[in-house]
Amino acid sequence: MPSRDDEKTFSDICLSRRTATRSRLTSVTPSVLARYRQYLRAKGVPSTLDPQRFDPEVREALISNYDQLSSGRSFAGIRAELLSLARAGRCPMCDGGPVATLDHYLPKSVFPEFSVMPKNLVPVCYRCNNIKQDVIEESGRRFLHSYFEDPPIEALLDAEVSVEESVTITFRASYSGEAPSVAANYCFQFERLRLADYFQLESVAELCDRSLAMQDYFGDDGDSSAVREYLEREAASVASLHGVNHWKAALFSAASKSTAFCNGGFLQLLHA
Ligand SMILES: [Zn+2]
Repeated sequence: MPSRDDEKTFSDICLSRRTATRSRLTSVTPSVLARYRQYLRAKGVPSTLDPQRFDPEVREALISNYDQLSSGRSFAGIRAELLSLARAGRCPMCDGGPVATLDHYLPKSVFPEFSVMPKNLVPVCYRCNNIKQDVIEESGRRFLHSYFEDPPIEALLDAEVSVEESVTITFRASYSGEAPSVAANYCFQFERLRLADYFQLESVAELCDRSLAMQDYFGDDGDSSAVREYLEREAASVASLHGVNHWKAALFSAASKSTAFCNGGFLQLLHA
């Protein structure tokens, strides 16, 4: 969660603009700040905020405030500061991609007044930012807001590892219960960001990286139990560090449950 003074940030950026733009922005500053307080009380839940109409010139000025955060511009330090908030530099939406950009949780095309509000700017990877686009919510389900919501604690992500001609990994996320809920939002995010595809690709690379370790456990005697126990330990370790819904926890758990994989199926990865 950004700790900087949000209202001062907004005002400082507005005051740095050229005279005509600055006067357009200062005319709406009280109403923008009031709306932002509403945003904070609602923890960014969009359904509580109706889009506000602005004159086209004011709207343009609000949106272009965000340009002041670009590299080389006066407020680039804010961008760097927000990017540094990501845990271990990893995207909170896909639990994998390196953080590279700021996502407007509520898009600036719909909510231009929040274009530079720190708690609306979430560090994410390029892939998630590109796919998310300007979607806000659908049927009461929306993206998780990593500043205001903890990830779900119940296990929602499941993987399956099968061994035939090659090793195949599939992911699915499901929940029982109704929207709105953190679980429903998690599954919405999983679907919208096509995380099944992303996790599948990352999983192949992850298992390839582990294949020599698995081969050591397997040994010349073909000790499948040692491979299974290794994968179970890895699954427990990831779950304890990153939560039960981290894709690596689901992956290792699924691999440990596949008899064919533990019984030498993983060797296919060495020749892939
Ligand atoms: Zn991502």
